Amino acid sequence: MEMIVLGSGTAVPHPKRGSAGYLVCGGSGAILIDVGLGTLQKLAKLGISLSVPNAAAFTHLHLDHTAELAPLLFALRYSGIGRTKTLTLCGAPGFREFYDGLRRMYGAWVEPVDYTLEIEEIGRGPVSIGGFMLWAFPVSHTPQSVAYRVEDPSDGKSIAFSGDTDVCEGLVEAARGADLAVFESSFPDGHKVVGHLTPGEAGEIASRSKAKRLLLTHFYPECEGEDIFVQCRNHYAGEILLAEDLLRISV
Ligand SMILES: [Zn+2]
Ligand SMILES: [Zn+2]
Repeated sequence: MEMIVLGSGTAVPHPKRGSAGYLVCGGSGAILIDVGLGTLQKLAKLGISLSVPNAAAFTHLHLDHTAELAPLLFALRYSGIGRTKTLTLCGAPGFREFYDGLRRMYGAWVEPVDYTLEIEEIGRGPVSIGGFMLWAFPVSHTPQSVAYRVEDPSDGKSIAFSGDTDVCEGLVEAARGADLAVFESSFPDGHKVVGHLTPGEAGEIASRSKAKRLLLTHFYPECEGEDIFVQCRNHYAGEILLAEDLLRISV
């Protein structure tokens, strides 16, 4: 499978980084993980139609991870996109209420026309979507925050997405033996903010979970000019990659 970074940034607008968004593509389907600001335009740049993803899975409800859900649903009403297959929206328990809130605000503009919209509140999982298995693991950020593990049953390869989180066992579990760990690294070592990871902490969790490769992402402005790579290297011996928007990684 392939993982494409659609947004390596945060809530703070950045000239080169959009808010959080990732696309996992495999032989038989594709899943969006978070749909933050800038995600839809990145898909357009890649020439990937909004009719392609089978699902959009949300790690939590903060706006830097969900802001383009309503625009996605609104765009899908345009017949030229030609979406007919089911779109599944996944989130932690409580996600349905979030979607209902959008419906109260936008009415029919966020309702499907020619396709079916399914809302899946994932407990532990797994759920089968687009040929992938998807697991959710509660993590330490907001009461409804989860990390995801996406596995391709055809070859057993797996990718773990931390979403936003502080150090917690849920993330160790989500990334256990994963071929790629996509971990947030919001603030540099020495500038720890509760509810988020530093590069050192991300490296430590990747080591404990024995993830094979680590991609650091979700960089707040405090990370600029810091040696994120070295801070992480002190705690993790495997391959470390730093996310940029539109980076593609084969797994
Ligand atoms: Zn965030
Ligand atoms: Zn958050």
